[in-house]
Amino acid sequence: MIRDANLYSGQTAECCQISTAKREGDHHSPRKWGKATGWLSNHEATLSQCMALQVIVPSEQSRLINYFIVGFSIFLLMPTHMMLDTYIYFAVIGFSLFGLGLAFYATPSTDAALSSLPSDQAGSGSGIYKMASSLGASFGVAISAGVFTALSGDDSAAQWLEGVIASLTAGNGNRAIGLRADFDALPIQEDNDLEYKSTVSGVSHLCGHDGHTTMLLAAGKYLAETKNFNGTVRLIFQPGEETMEGGPAMIKDGLFERFPVDAVYGMHNMPGLELGSFYFSSGDVMAAVDNWEIQITGKGGHGAMPELSIDPVVAGSSLVMALQTVVSRNVAPANSAVVTVGAFQSGEAGNVVAQSAILRLSIRTKTDEDRTMVLNNIRRLTKMQAESFGCSWEIREGVPGAVLVNDEKETLEAYEIAKEMFGEDRTTYPGPTFLGSEDFAFMLQEKPGTYCFLGNGDTPMVHHPQYTLNQEILPRGAAYWVALTEQLLK
Ligand SMILES: [Zn+2]
Ligand SMILES: [Zn+2]
Repeated sequence: MIRDANLYSGQTAECCQISTAKREGDHHSPRKWGKATGWLSNHEATLSQCMALQVIVPSEQSRLINYFIVGFSIFLLMPTHMMLDTYIYFAVIGFSLFGLGLAFYATPSTDAALSSLPSDQAGSGSGIYKMASSLGASFGVAISAGVFTALSGDDSAAQWLEGVIASLTAGNGNRAIGLRADFDALPIQEDNDLEYKSTVSGVSHLCGHDGHTTMLLAAGKYLAETKNFNGTVRLIFQPGEETMEGGPAMIKDGLFERFPVDAVYGMHNMPGLELGSFYFSSGDVMAAVDNWEIQITGKGGHGAMPELSIDPVVAGSSLVMALQTVVSRNVAPANSAVVTVGAFQSGEAGNVVAQSAILRLSIRTKTDEDRTMVLNNIRRLTKMQAESFGCSWEIREGVPGAVLVNDEKETLEAYEIAKEMFGEDRTTYPGPTFLGSEDFAFMLQEKPGTYCFLGNGDTPMVHHPQYTLNQEILPRGAAYWVALTEQLLK
């Protein structure tokens, strides 16, 4: 579903917000946009929720723009009333009512809510706050328009994840690039004493996506002020990365048709790599992950009468063992792959034969050929194992995984630009590759581009309860985005 948010098309920046995958019952991301003012007044925003709201730019600038809309609408109303047809007359009334709503309801309520958030924090959350609240009028308001449209949605729309695209054009060049930052959080309890730690129990930014968003907002602010490039840069703020749903959903919603780009670029912080250094690689860089659920159904019964039942625990156990051979006996030793059965759930009582068993798998592969082969082997083993015990079976395949493949041309270009900016000793090619996954892979299937790593230094790994994004990399990440834009759009 796409909702157009070009409310300020007269501005130098245009903006649109795209709703993405529907994810009921999920708490990874700021999905309750429609209830935003509600949870702001309850002070329950997570860092990512704060980010989303702070992009609203609750500044005097946006308030003045809103008052301007009201004034302008009333001005338009007078001649229209006399000369134009009814349709336009009502359209203008609607527009002016919307402006009134913005000015008198939304702006003060978000102002009030945001004023209750700590403003003197030094963390990434507050970094976002400062970046966003000081964004320039044209660009900032355009982003705010997009997010506000999401906020004003009804309850059913509030169940949708929202991405935000902000486009900025300078000069007359017709090249366009996309810079992507993810902004979702994780369902993990943060274990630290940071001043800016998540205020929502069990949900936190342990992958640094709030930092990624801060970097892109900072780059956007600078680019909007200096406009030292020739063409169009599109800032892509993407939800739902951790579940691999946000990227494909935005593409499905028309991301690249509505906002064409010649190439896309992504970046992720990485603990264990030298603080502030950049790492580029061509080809396969991140694994494809496929999260599957297998259900084995037997026939429940009394534990003392196995002859009258079919035991799914025995069949499932046999399948778990058989699955261990998929990688060890099929994947070439030089390649990497993982098949993990992370959950096996069946039965409650010792004297009962369960009716069914559930297995949950995380399957990771590094090439398309390995992925196809591994998945087919799992399908085959599931069928044969279940049937050999007289059980029925069902495989619920999750969002299809994709290997992240960097294009060589764009990778080398980005590497050279980073090397010039940060020096040879802080820029590496080829860099390391990982068995982690990344849904930016889907954007790279549509457009050429590259995804690099920015060293986060010696901190616990992302997704660890004590992970923290090192604040020192924020300006370096922003500087990379700016250099990329200014060099690629000359
Ligand atoms: Zn993550
Ligand atoms: Zn991440």
